[in-house]
Amino acid sequence: MVLKDRKLIREEVTQRLVSGLKTQNLQYDNLFNEEKARLNKDFDLLSLLYHRMFFYKLNEKLSGLVCDHTFRLSEQILTQMQFKRGKINEIIEIFKKNGGHCDCEVIYYVESQLIGNQA
Ligand SMILES: [Zn+2]
Repeated sequence: MVLKDRKLIREEVTQRLVSGLKTQNLQYDNLFNEEKARLNKDFDLLSLLYHRMFFYKLNEKLSGLVCDHTFRLSEQILTQMQFKRGKINEIIEIFKKNGGHCDCEVIYYVESQLIGNQA
């Protein structure tokens, strides 16, 4: 069973972001390609961020905006996820290492390593 109701989807997304608690299945869960994602050295952190809906939320925030070539939106979301400053800096470094040097590149180069077909 996958959630279809927009309001319930939004509630599930917020719950996962803030507390990490998963109670319902989302269509987005099916995009995750574990076999492909495991090829990445930073699998543990990146898959945690994926399942806590970080990339989903970043996509949502970026839609309709032109990226300003900073990590402004990523930092907002990581703060909402209750990560401390030091951990946020560590995560940003991992994004850079994986080719993501701003919010839009985190989607293009980092999330893309976790979803869809084998590269
Ligand atoms: Zn960008």
